[in-house]
Amino acid sequence: MLKEKIAVIKKERNAVILAHNYQEGDIQDVADFTGDSLGLARAAQKTDAKVILFCGVHFMAETAAMLCPDKTVLIPDLAAGCSLADMIIPEQIKTWRMKYPEGLVACYVNTSAAVKAECDVCVTSTNAIKVIESLPADKDILFVPDYYLGSYVKAKTKRKIHLWKGYCPAHMAILPEQIDKLMEEHPQAEFLMHPECGCTTKQMHLADQVLSTEGMVQHVRGSGSKEFIVATENGLLNRMRTQFPEKQFYPASEHASCHHMQRNTLEKAFMSLVNMKHVVTVPPEIAKRAVKPIERMLEIA
Ligand code: SF4
Repeated sequence: MLKEKIAVIKKERNAVILAHNYQEGDIQDVADFTGDSLGLARAAQKTDAKVILFCGVHFMAETAAMLCPDKTVLIPDLAAGCSLADMIIPEQIKTWRMKYPEGLVACYVNTSAAVKAECDVCVTSTNAIKVIESLPADKDILFVPDYYLGSYVKAKTKRKIHLWKGYCPAHMAILPEQIDKLMEEHPQAEFLMHPECGCTTKQMHLADQVLSTEGMVQHVRGSGSKEFIVATENGLLNRMRTQFPEKQFYPASEHASCHHMQRNTLEKAFMSLVNMKHVVTVPPEIAKRAVKPIERMLEIA
């Protein structure tokens, strides 16, 4: 019933619904596009709709607002933030730059627009290695804010990367002991790991694939395996189970869920379109600077 009402109001508002892979299944069901941060940013750029209902967290809606200044970007719950993004503020980057004036700052897309405005290039978990490899080899690079993704990229690229000690609590909940137990219980299962996982540094050698959420979906599509242990936020399993009902998916931890993502519900998504709330905007002087590292990333990858 609510899903039908959403379809009607969506049409009236000339809106498109974008949902992150970590959103609950009901929201993914009504979305025009479900994907990871990079996919959603691209979908926002491509749409002709006047309104974007962004079912994800605040920094993602900010990115859409900066890339689509002529559209109205809504988020169902304004309090849907990101604990990882909150672990760095612009002043901390300015302090690092005073010490390394020739250095470059790469920010994970999980950062506020105000932080992005202080950075040279943006990355997602899909393209981080490619983007870092495109930077001059002799430069010191500060990678913010995720320590585990940064460690993974540092190990793969061998660049002079200074790691910020931020982390995602949902991915931190995935522990090495749980992975060992699941691998024992399901010896035929492939182990797919997101690079934000707290156990990345210890368990990376066990992973069949270290992938972004979108990379995981693509991998499952092309794999002959029937079972998968999935180490990321558990919302992704909704999408995997819907798209690949013939395959089995085991969450690496029952506790790997993001309370920010869960703030968005189907009801709030509906009310958001009814009331045209909550509009996400970025002050023009910040947007002008913050959009540059995003565009640089989109050019590279
Ligand atoms: S899962 Fe972690 S990184 Fe993603 S939005 Fe939630 S807190 Fe942020």
